[in-house]
Amino acid sequence: MAKKRKKNDRSRSIIWRIHGSWLLKLFFVFLVCDAIIMVMMMPFDVIESGNGEQIAEQVILLKARLKPLFTFQFVYWTYTLLFGSGSIHRALRPLTRLAETTQALSHEELDDEVFLQLENAIGRISPKSNETLHTGNSELQGLEKAVNSLLERMRQTYSQQARFVSDASHELRTPIAVIQGYANMLERWGKSDPKVLDEAITAINSESRHMQLLIEQLLFLARSDSGRNPLTMADFSMNEMVSETVDEYEMINTAHKWKLRLPEDEIVVRGDEAMLKQALRILCDNAVKYSPDGSQITVALGKENGRAFFSVQDEGIGISPKDQAHVFERFFRADPSRVRETGGTGLGLSIAQWIIERHGGRIDILSREDIGTRMTVSIPF
Ligand code: ADP
Repeated sequence: MAKKRKKNDRSRSIIWRIHGSWLLKLFFVFLVCDAIIMVMMMPFDVIESGNGEQIAEQVILLKARLKPLFTFQFVYWTYTLLFGSGSIHRALRPLTRLAETTQALSHEELDDEVFLQLENAIGRISPKSNETLHTGNSELQGLEKAVNSLLERMRQTYSQQARFVSDASHELRTPIAVIQGYANMLERWGKSDPKVLDEAITAINSESRHMQLLIEQLLFLARSDSGRNPLTMADFSMNEMVSETVDEYEMINTAHKWKLRLPEDEIVVRGDEAMLKQALRILCDNAVKYSPDGSQITVALGKENGRAFFSVQDEGIGISPKDQAHVFERFFRADPSRVRETGGTGLGLSIAQWIIERHGGRIDILSREDIGTRMTVSIPF
């Protein structure tokens, strides 16, 4: 409070000094004007008449009018000479102090001891523990905060990577174990028993296909995480891309009824066609996996509010509201007991989401259990 008052007093005195000098200047101008008026109003006919007495009278009058002007000039200049520089100094003191402080700060250097303290504190931190940087030096607080937030982000990435590797190994362990089991069975009885031989070959085939898909998806995500999955952008027709995909599915999956809804106009977007097709395939694969044979799968294309969209709708098991929040997480499956049956890896939607987000788009889910699911991809164009 006292500090604030002092500050106000100081600014008021500066203002007074400035206004004060203006008042003096005004007074000076007034005196000059008065003298000029006096000269202009001088009775020149009196001067021309050559009457010495009258002229002397006028000169005395003029001297009397000019006296205050000269006195004022003399007092003002003397004051300015003696105290002028002091008052300017005082008025500018806050600015001078600011300049001095700035200069002092720019020349300030962290001494060696502080650096040593910082080095030791950083050296003691283990990246795997939850420790944070703490030197106890108030000058280093900003730096500590920045280093701690960097550490936090590094730890998060590290634990995500560790979880990904552990989940991936777990996923690969099962098909390898199944293949090994059937290979052992073949070795013991398969050579003589055609039934065992048949069963083992079918299982090994299916498991190795599943493993291949899993490895391909893992590689895709690993490349995406390390920024090695570049998009090849070009203008292309979404109508062609969607109808080609549905044609392929009609050929390879005859167990479902495929329906295609295309708009009358052609929708041309800029994007990576192969990647967007991969995202559409993931949605179609899911529709096939999670809906009964004989049901209908509808693939639609359209545009709305400056966004192009495609959707895949099935009449399948649906996704509960609780699971809808997790389906884009890596290795998430709403019903893990159906994994063997469907051959799902739990990675499809993570990949689709990565592709769509790189195109500035999003995937929306509309689903009701035992009624069906509609996944809609929309991207700006
Ligand atoms: P997955 O390879 O297991 O299908 P995804 O990442 O594609 O992996 O999907 C994650 C989970 O989301 C699936 O395991 C499934 O439980 C659920 N899901 C995805 N699409 C559908 C759908 N159309 N209908 C019902 N459930 C679905």
